[in-house]
Amino acid sequence: MSATTPGAPDPRIIDITRRYWGYATLRPLQHEAMLAGIAARDSLVVLPTGGGKSLCYQVPPVAAQRTDVVVSPLISLMKDQVDGLRACGYPAVALHSQSSRGEQLEAQRAAVSGECRLLFVSPEKLLTPVGLNLVRQARVRAFAIDEAHCISHWGHDFRPEYRRLAELREHFPDASLHAYTATATPRVREDIVAQLRLRDPARLVGVFDRPNLVYRVVQRQGGMGQVLEVIRRHAGEAVIVYCITRRDTEELAAFLRGERIRAAHYHAGLEAEARRKTQDDFAAERLDVVVATVAFGMGIDRSNVRAVIHAAMPKSVEHYQQEAGRAGRDGLPAECVLLYSVADAIRWEGLIARSAAGTDDSEAMQVSLELLAHVRRYATRIECRHRLLSEYFGQSLPQPSCGACDVCLGEIPNAVDASVEAQKILSCVARVGERFGVGHVVDVLTGKLSPRVRSLGHDRLSTFAILKESDQKALTQRVYELLDQGLLSREGGEYPVLRLNAASWEVLRGQRAVRLVPQVSAAVRRAAVEEVAWEGVDQELFEALRRLRKQIAEERVVPPFVILNDATLRELARTRPGTLAAFGGIGGIGQRKTHDFGQRFVEAIVAHCRGRGLPTDAPAAPPPRPRSDDQPRRPPRTALVAFERFDEGATIEEVMAELGRTRTTVVQYLAHWISERRPPTIERWVRADVYDRVAAAVREVGDAFLGPVREHIVTGSGEEIAYDDIRLVITHLSATKQTASAPDGAPAPGQAPARSNGGV
Ligand code: ADP
Ligand code: ZN
Repeated sequence: MSATTPGAPDPRIIDITRRYWGYATLRPLQHEAMLAGIAARDSLVVLPTGGGKSLCYQVPPVAAQRTDVVVSPLISLMKDQVDGLRACGYPAVALHSQSSRGEQLEAQRAAVSGECRLLFVSPEKLLTPVGLNLVRQARVRAFAIDEAHCISHWGHDFRPEYRRLAELREHFPDASLHAYTATATPRVREDIVAQLRLRDPARLVGVFDRPNLVYRVVQRQGGMGQVLEVIRRHAGEAVIVYCITRRDTEELAAFLRGERIRAAHYHAGLEAEARRKTQDDFAAERLDVVVATVAFGMGIDRSNVRAVIHAAMPKSVEHYQQEAGRAGRDGLPAECVLLYSVADAIRWEGLIARSAAGTDDSEAMQVSLELLAHVRRYATRIECRHRLLSEYFGQSLPQPSCGACDVCLGEIPNAVDASVEAQKILSCVARVGERFGVGHVVDVLTGKLSPRVRSLGHDRLSTFAILKESDQKALTQRVYELLDQGLLSREGGEYPVLRLNAASWEVLRGQRAVRLVPQVSAAVRRAAVEEVAWEGVDQELFEALRRLRKQIAEERVVPPFVILNDATLRELARTRPGTLAAFGGIGGIGQRKTHDFGQRFVEAIVAHCRGRGLPTDAPAAPPPRPRSDDQPRRPPRTALVAFERFDEGATIEEVMAELGRTRTTVVQYLAHWISERRPPTIERWVRADVYDRVAAAVREVGDAFLGPVREHIVTGSGEEIAYDDIRLVITHLSATKQTASAPDGAPAPGQAPARSNGGV
């Protein structure tokens, strides 16, 4: 680790970040990385996705008044970056194989004149005579290598053209090299240092945990419906779904379109044109959901992806971290769901064996199998997911509970003793002579008279039909779980058979208990990070500003996130700046953006406030960031005043006027008041007929998220019901325990599952 500078960051640097991006503070390690860049000292910077790597190489050339090169693997990525920088008034150009002759000349002119700060180049273009010549003319002294893991075989995205970057050292012996990656494994890191021949680099390795991501692992049962369920929680927001095969992506996308979701598929087998269209549509927010193979991702810069769903198991934890990491790059909460089934593990094993068959690379196959085993461990262990992921990448997580994974949120039902069931399964494996696969064993156990069972006489075995009350699918799942826990083995190549191992015998002899998780999916709970991200945000204003952003983006032919990101948009909808000066003071808005479209945003905000009798310029309370359950949030002072007024029966409007707060905030106070006071009715704030309709919808679709409830009511009746009303009703229902949160909606009086503090 390089020497870190204690105390305040260099004022020159802050001056630059404020001017171009409106950032007054730096993220962890950004300062150190920038100093290495300015001093032209080699560096290896490893920060998680969304950690702010780009800023690290964007600031040094401005501070040092020079032109630096950024090597980037994908043209679309370069384009987005250059668009984004130009929108901030930052001089940057790109040079790659798709640059037109005119663009090439323009890049040349800008680079040679010295006015350009960053020159983005693809690796193959850089190492051509044209590229090398240009770099020399621009007197480049520092190269940033973005996505540097592409140089390593051990990474998840090896690119041969990256290997050649080692030649840079020969062409430019005096220049510094700065490698950037989000890949956390030490092996890849060392490989980058060796391949690029970095000279005593500053090694800056950040913390990998992403507290804004909520991780869930769900047993896959009829996957499509489960995917739809997650997508419905994010109505109108960006979601990426990953599948293993191309055909899976096509079928799933078609199914989702049938459910009136704006979805498309994406895989490497599509024409370049079709792929580009899908990417562009997704970036421009014309598409909400992309169903893809791993081919989709690196070119995606959309920062407001609110969920990443793995409809099938990825083949390594590295892949998982990389793909799930595409969620929530704007730092706002997002959800990562892995639908797990041992069937996928088995499928991957087959694929790995097949791809190794032609070669004699048994080591590569061993590595692949090992990587796969780690994913299975991640998916099957009932331990904090944030902790498991951090530990996998060699970092520890000090918090006892992350409060942002299915395990810590208490969504996983308690494991139950399943020793007897396991013994029945295992003894059946013994009875059929350890010579049959899962399907046949399940047939025998459930008493299915298949032709094979009959011809082998297995219907006369003592274990025939001893689990006849079990569902075939559920029982298959059980067998898989035994395999996962190592209580049963599976051997043989193409037609694997079930075999007993030492652990199986311990179970059979009653020396070892088996605990399995019941296969009911519990209701999903909202994590604290999810609640806080909307605190004080005027949602209606947010939507209005989002429409304005889209309009401006279309006028300028750039993706919306280039205009302003979602974190900035929510901050605007929270603080409601009524002047250009106040607008420019918001994080994420620099001088150029204030000048270019500040007026339009301010007008929209003022109009919104006027229409609702709200003051502009609400005091900017820093949004709290609770990290774990052991820090209960205290109500702010104004909330206490609001409580007293609600006790007296004041309306929402009265409290808004008195406290000068937005409706959203006051509704939040009211929700807290309801869960504290548990009044018998909330008719004073929500009309009785509205209450009944929301309650009915909650019984249908659960209460974890408001979007689906609202959609359910809208499609049912035509009248739109405000989010605020839904929120209040849900709070009241759970405060007075009139409903269980079971997804089947069957109210179970007296045995409602323990809920976390009412959920709103
Ligand atoms: P990475 O390349 O590491 O995945 P990015 O460079 O794309 O991450 O940054 C992620 C987001 O964080 C971007 O929206 C960026 O503008 C924002 N960001 C970066 N640095 C800061 C900072 N110091 N303060 C606030 N936001 C920042
Ligand atoms: Zn956790």
